[in-house]
Amino acid sequence: MSRLLVEGGTLLGLSDRADIRSDTDLYAENGTIRGIGSEGKRLASIPGEPVEKIPARGKWVLPGFVQAHLHLCQTLLRNGPEGLDLLSWLGRHVWPGEAAHDPETLAVSARLGLSECLAAGVTAVLDMGTVRHSDSLFRAAARSGIRYTGGNVLMDDPETTPPNLRATADEGMAETERLRATWHGKDRGRLRVAVQPRFAVTSTEPLLRAAADYSARHDLILHTHASESRGEIDLVRGRTGLANIEWLDRLGLLTRRTCVAHVIHADSSDWAALARSESSVVHCPSSNMRLSSGVCPVSELKRAGVRVALGSDGAACNDRLDPFTEMRLATFLPRTRVPPSSLSAFAALRMATVEGSAALGLGPEPRLAAGALCDLVLLDPEAGWALPDAWSDEPYGAIVYAMGRENVFATIVDGVVRYRAGDTTVGGLKPTAAEVRGAVARMKAGMN
Ligand SMILES: [Zn+2]
Repeated sequence: MSRLLVEGGTLLGLSDRADIRSDTDLYAENGTIRGIGSEGKRLASIPGEPVEKIPARGKWVLPGFVQAHLHLCQTLLRNGPEGLDLLSWLGRHVWPGEAAHDPETLAVSARLGLSECLAAGVTAVLDMGTVRHSDSLFRAAARSGIRYTGGNVLMDDPETTPPNLRATADEGMAETERLRATWHGKDRGRLRVAVQPRFAVTSTEPLLRAAADYSARHDLILHTHASESRGEIDLVRGRTGLANIEWLDRLGLLTRRTCVAHVIHADSSDWAALARSESSVVHCPSSNMRLSSGVCPVSELKRAGVRVALGSDGAACNDRLDPFTEMRLATFLPRTRVPPSSLSAFAALRMATVEGSAALGLGPEPRLAAGALCDLVLLDPEAGWALPDAWSDEPYGAIVYAMGRENVFATIVDGVVRYRAGDTTVGGLKPTAAEVRGAVARMKAGMN
């Protein structure tokens, strides 16, 4: 049995802006919060298994960050070419790179990405993998201890998918089924399989229908991209006569289990379909700006009743896997078009935490209360460059505007400390520079 006492922190529950308790203990057993304040202290003092203690006076304790759209297979494609739009960037850099992975290079890519996530306070990810070698992703996720939802990506359209990344609909779904049988629900439920048609462009209609059906039958997250670039939308409209979101809706892909990355070029009827179906949109502002894709109208989507979470997308189009960067941009970008009150720091912080958790279907809304999952990030306001903190009664602006990864004091997943400030190897998970360079050299050799 694991026992953990976070001592004397300032608890930011995020249920509402006033949900702040200073100098308060938090006690967890086996990954579940059991007691807060004096009750937590009392439970921790009961004799039994040793209690791991984290002195947290002066630290801010909040639900962990959720990376709701990520491609761990692309971490080794970081620092790639500039000056390309989405479809040329996919064709010239990402797809050849993904096709060049072997099980070992994919493992290095996943470990590099997951160690970066943990060091940034991320406790859960939704990861669009690649077509093959997906066991490497699950093994790396199991080793990291992070809450992982992901698996293989589905790409079957012979007209748009490169041959070395193509699997037929039957082959792709059979691989998802194999992964589900092998990994889904393992590690106390931390590992989960998602159904992942990459996007409508590379998916035939039978594949999209099969994906929707499989997700419904097994209650799995359905993870896809849509309406990221105008070129993509033109392709889908040319083939189907419908706008991207309309097409997905027509085939039954929009449900409460669905996470759609981007949704930049969509209209109010698309937003209504997303809201009605309780689908989630994942906003990835850095990626959208790097590829000149456009700006997701987050305020309008939220007003239409759509849940919006945050993601970094892959390192190939960001190149940081850093929720602080995305929160900051999520609040700043709408202000280039609409008044500064449109999206508050508190709203962005909720998108990066509780909304992400809801999008991934991780259970009841994260709370700092007995019975809730113990997935936490501890922030140190005195580290880095975030002081002073005296001009506001609330810490939310400091977190979203001023803090960065240097302020992460500890990351706790399922009641276990997975990262502490100063742990440069992230518990040995982070590959060495030589491992990273060796893996990339092997991928490049395979691409020539
Ligand atoms: Zn993506």
